[in-house]
Amino acid sequence: MIAIWHWLLQVSGVDDEASKWYAFWSGFGADFGEGAILLSIVGLYRRHKCQSCWRPALKSGLGRVEGTHYETCHKHTNKTDHEALKELHKLRHPQLHEHLNREGA
Ligand SMILES: [Zn+2]
Repeated sequence: MIAIWHWLLQVSGVDDEASKWYAFWSGFGADFGEGAILLSIVGLYRRHKCQSCWRPALKSGLGRVEGTHYETCHKHTNKTDHEALKELHKLRHPQLHEHLNREGA
């Protein structure tokens, strides 16, 4: 279960805030034995959420930031924000960034 969580952290680009969630869910999930399912739901939410605010990302991948796994809402889907996010992605996930950009090229 910890391995899955670490994978989710990597894939969804979660930050310190997630560590608190992890502490919460790991205690919670252990009791019910459904931790992995709950983590998947949290991971899905984090994946399809704007990277710059709390809004959900645009549907159908319209807000997807090119070369990253980030998505943005209608307010943050613009060239300036996406370029900033791409830089952020590069700093936060250098290996993933390289991988995604190599594959997309
Ligand atoms: Zn936004």
